[in-house]
Amino acid sequence: MADDKQRKLDQLHTDILSKNICSELAKQATNLVMGDGNINADIVFIGEAPGQKEDEQGLPFVGAAGKFLNEMLAAANMKRSDVYITNIVKYRPPNNRDPLPEEKNAFWPYLLKQLQIIRPKVVVTLGRHSMEHFLPDMKISQIHGQPKRIKVGDDHLVIVPLYHPAAALYNGSMRQALVDDFLLLPEIIKKL
Ligand code: URA
Repeated sequence: MADDKQRKLDQLHTDILSKNICSELAKQATNLVMGDGNINADIVFIGEAPGQKEDEQGLPFVGAAGKFLNEMLAAANMKRSDVYITNIVKYRPPNNRDPLPEEKNAFWPYLLKQLQIIRPKVVVTLGRHSMEHFLPDMKISQIHGQPKRIKVGDDHLVIVPLYHPAAALYNGSMRQALVDDFLLLPEIIKKL
């Protein structure tokens, strides 16, 4: 089963390369950053896009935002190896600019396929870029930390929108809200 999941995830990786998804971003990137962690996890985190360190190492959230993410995971009694982490856009945008709507749209079907393969109980979006695709017309400042059950195609997903660790890192009130929300995650998972 796990082998089958890994095989399907590897196939997605191959498909993104062979279909030349976001060819302009691909040209400038070192790596396609698919994701990292436990493919049988109950919880999948979805960030925005790789930064420089992530592009170099081919892994999501390994820079400053990743360090903060690791600290919050530890505070909530979780390890990176218990969860799966990915991004909505899987190539680094030049100079870490925001991902463009067309870039997010291009990767969206692949993100959904990743979720269909992993089948987590909870999908945690980090920041508004990944939240917007699951919960359009909602404001992160109003709904952060609140689980929302949605239907995407034939699938039902539970989304928990959180602030992005990079945005919250140096903003005292946002940081506290993110840490508080994070500590609720184990309880949310247990209730499902
Ligand atoms: N920020 C993100 O959104 N994703 C990463 O992988 C790293 C930083």
